[in-house]
Amino acid sequence: MTGGARHPELRAALMSAVAEKAPKVDRDRIAACYDFTASAHGDQKRESGQPYVSHSVEVCRILLDLLESRLDTTLVCAALLHDVVEDTGITLEQVEKQFGREVASLVEGVTKLSRVHFERREAQEAENFRRMLLSMSRDLRVIFIKLADRLHNMRTLEYLRPDKAKRIAEETRDIYAPLAHRLGMAGIKREMEDLALKVLDPGAYAELAGSIQIKRSEREAFLEQVGELLREGLRASGLKAEVIGRPKHFFSIYHKLQDGRTLDQIYDLFGLRILTHSRNDCYRALGVVHDLFTPVAERFKDYIATPKSNLYQSLHTTVLTENGEMVEVQIRTWEMHRIAETGVAAHYLYKQGGTVDEELDQRLGGFVTQIAGWQRETDDDEYMDFLRTALHQEELFVYTPRRELKRLAKGSTPLDFAFLIHSEVGQRTVGARVNGELVPLRHELRNGDMVEIITSPQAQPHEDWLKLVRTTHAKAKIRHWLRQRRLDDSVALGTEMLDRELKRLRIKPTPEALLEIAKGLGCEDLATLHARLAEGSVSIGQVTHKFEPRKDTFAERLVKGPLEALGVGRKPAGGVLIQGIGNVMVQFARCCQPVPGDPIVGIVTIGRGVSVHRQDCPNTFGHRVPAERRVTVDWDARPTERFPVRLALQGSDRAGLLADVAKVIQNLGVNIRTAGMQSEDHTVRGVFVVEVPHIAKLREVIDAIRRLPGVQRVERRQRTPRSDGERGDAEDV
Ligand code: MN
Repeated sequence: MTGGARHPELRAALMSAVAEKAPKVDRDRIAACYDFTASAHGDQKRESGQPYVSHSVEVCRILLDLLESRLDTTLVCAALLHDVVEDTGITLEQVEKQFGREVASLVEGVTKLSRVHFERREAQEAENFRRMLLSMSRDLRVIFIKLADRLHNMRTLEYLRPDKAKRIAEETRDIYAPLAHRLGMAGIKREMEDLALKVLDPGAYAELAGSIQIKRSEREAFLEQVGELLREGLRASGLKAEVIGRPKHFFSIYHKLQDGRTLDQIYDLFGLRILTHSRNDCYRALGVVHDLFTPVAERFKDYIATPKSNLYQSLHTTVLTENGEMVEVQIRTWEMHRIAETGVAAHYLYKQGGTVDEELDQRLGGFVTQIAGWQRETDDDEYMDFLRTALHQEELFVYTPRRELKRLAKGSTPLDFAFLIHSEVGQRTVGARVNGELVPLRHELRNGDMVEIITSPQAQPHEDWLKLVRTTHAKAKIRHWLRQRRLDDSVALGTEMLDRELKRLRIKPTPEALLEIAKGLGCEDLATLHARLAEGSVSIGQVTHKFEPRKDTFAERLVKGPLEALGVGRKPAGGVLIQGIGNVMVQFARCCQPVPGDPIVGIVTIGRGVSVHRQDCPNTFGHRVPAERRVTVDWDARPTERFPVRLALQGSDRAGLLADVAKVIQNLGVNIRTAGMQSEDHTVRGVFVVEVPHIAKLREVIDAIRRLPGVQRVERRQRTPRSDGERGDAEDV
């Protein structure tokens, strides 16, 4: 990074913005980070024609506006570097070496897995959101960077191709703006939504901007009058408070118009806001407002006593003026105002390094814990479903019989309420009373309802319940319960089946011996073995015959005889059972390399016994193999047997990667038969052949490699039919 900084004007702009707003940060470090970033992006340009690094600088400026003096050096560095790993040849390891672990892990949290291959775009998007939100649950700074990044991209959307701009605008409207809203960052949310609307419905946007301009000039004098009356009233009662107008938000007005309302019916189009210095003054100011004007009773809301779950606090009241016009007035302290605009960012403290403590999570309605919880309990489609629902829910407040206030999603039913109280209560629900009246479980709750749940020890959840609940919390609990019960049922049945058979055969195995057999059959533990026995994917015979030495049956001798006579068997039978009989010449296909636990199929080959393939191996597909040559085979491996598997790996080129991979494999007690690596353009590709006893072990190996820094993907390599010079199994078939 010698020979003068790139784009010195951008560097100067960044440094002066930092000096002005966040004087406490380490400016030398930030300057060094700027130089590193500018040099990494080199001559890359944004679609606007600006140098790429201008985007990184703008992201920092947005963060400066958001956090001001609370912005820390780590966050500025990570914001500058946020695109370096995704868009340049720099690796995370290099970032870590230069700027430390903390900066690197923030950059990792915002970097998309764009180079990993996914079957469907939805799966890739879900995985990216999952990763991002998991990082966010550990460190809020990840989401600050991501939202600032997206906001600047939205500000420069006009330079993109229309279809791409539209896709980004939709994603912003559907996920990022709601996420900003959920975290209480109203300023960012408003701007994102208005920018999205401008792209997604330009006609409506222009029309709205025009008609709001007209409305405003009509209402301006009137609002000024009301404001002046309020100011006088507040002064007269000795209150120090300011009365101001409210910023307009096109998207929310657009939304209300879409609901069929007209501009005249939207009376909070231009409202007033009173800002005070204490919570007490808010209520005193409310008294002043209601003294001067007649309040509309059902429009009053006290979000100070009951803050929204995005930390928002304010008093809302709508009043009627003398000539019958309605005006909405919001009352809050300056501090509440700051929180209403920046949400969790207002709570961010550098000393906590962006972690969300229990208290903040509780104030957010448990949002962060929820997000971390779905990581375990959902597949990709469910995850996006949960995320969308959680982000778009409006709130509803109801009471317990003891008058405790509970927060639910709009549209919730008594069942949602029951699961909110406790999972045990939810699972045992048989009925509910709302305001003293018995209601069906699908009954939609309303604000202020008092809900009482009727339970029975015999009750239990049912599939249909999924249709009766609205909250992601209840849905997740019910799904979990149903899944668990299915598993419990299978385990109980499988245990009984196996015990009965072992008793009949007078076999008393030790738990350790049974566990070894389970693993040989591709089950990670005994419960899994029992469940598989119940489902029928593992047969009882596969387990019991391990305990009794068997004699060849007549049929077996018949099958084995001719093959041995031909002298073609390479390996005595082992590893599988063929159609219930043991000891036939088998070989394991080299194209797909099956491992105990994989679903398999046997193909009778000419002169070489039976070739065992994975069921999804293309070499076994119908057009390649006639049905009469297929035989059913089951796994029957001894724990000591080892099976070769080819693994393909891709990662960033860094020193010691090969050694690290070899080390983690060996640490798992797995032998490496061959290994090789090649690198090109900062990317390294490798192929390993490892020898494993069963699929559970193979999964451990793959997971361990995947966790190594720099590894982008690792997978089992399927050899395509006749794809290389080696004599493949296509010939054996
Ligand atoms: Mn970016």
